[in-house]
Amino acid sequence: MARRILLVEDERDIAELAALHLRDLCDEVRIANDGHEGLRLATTLDWALIVLDLRLPGPDGLEICRTVRRERPYQPILMLTSKSSELDRVLGLETGADDYLTKPFSVLELAARARAILRRVELLKQSSPDDEVSKNAIDAGPVHIDPARREVTLRGRSVDLTAREFDLLEYLARHPGRVFRRADLLDSVWGYGHEGYEHTVNSHINRLRAKIESNPSEPKMIVTVWGVGYKFSGQAA
Ligand code: CA
Repeated sequence: MARRILLVEDERDIAELAALHLRDLCDEVRIANDGHEGLRLATTLDWALIVLDLRLPGPDGLEICRTVRRERPYQPILMLTSKSSELDRVLGLETGADDYLTKPFSVLELAARARAILRRVELLKQSSPDDEVSKNAIDAGPVHIDPARREVTLRGRSVDLTAREFDLLEYLARHPGRVFRRADLLDSVWGYGHEGYEHTVNSHINRLRAKIESNPSEPKMIVTVWGVGYKFSGQAA
């Protein structure tokens, strides 16, 4: 199947330049210049990656992200923002972009991020449940993680996680008690150790906590190690 990237960006110069670099990574790049076209394409066709500008005429990036997530929790989404003050919303619980870049960004950085995301998608496709024998299921208190099916249950009830949330939880749970710096997690789970993007990790941790902790404001499973990072305690929440 053709591997396609959707780029929703109303600034045409940026869109053209970004598309030029993204074309090296896939079979086709489609550009949508406003939110209406972006929303339509995002929800009707299959995309290896959707790159979404936050501020758009018509439905904005957050609205598109939210709608896509409802229908396709696993869809990789990279958001472009102009202000770091918007990050909480971009990476927030209800929207949940996988990653973001702040404008102005370098197209090489965009291409590097996109490449990391596509590589991960490719790896997921290649690994069929049969050759996941080495990837045993993980039980940690009330949480059960099934890597072969990429399913998580909490006290027997299925939990909806995005692909990145799943990867992060699985990675932490495979190393109970070990303390990870945010940069380590970016490196291992996102595929790049990019300074200044630790906020992505914090937001994903918060989203995971909201989904698996009894009291997300006093987490028992994914614990903050002040001044360092996070660890998975393996304790029941
Ligand atoms: Ca814009």
